[in-house]
Amino acid sequence: MRIHVDSDKCEGHNRCYSIVPELFDVDDYGYATAAGDGVVPKELEDKARLAVDNCPEYAITISED
Ligand code: SF4
Repeated sequence: MRIHVDSDKCEGHNRCYSIVPELFDVDDYGYATAAGDGVVPKELEDKARLAVDNCPEYAITISED
């Protein structure tokens, strides 16, 4: 599983980072990017889905690669 953040949609609410800081990096303005290469460790998959569901801009997607 891998997460992706669409930077055109992200509005910097920072919710994703609050939910699972291991999977996101945020800049000084709160805009998020996937941490590292975006690969989600098995034990964080549920939290990754939670972050997707809680992004108000629908900016986070998951792929199964
Ligand atoms: S929750 Fe969504 S809009 Fe907010 S920082 Fe994360 S990716 Fe961006």
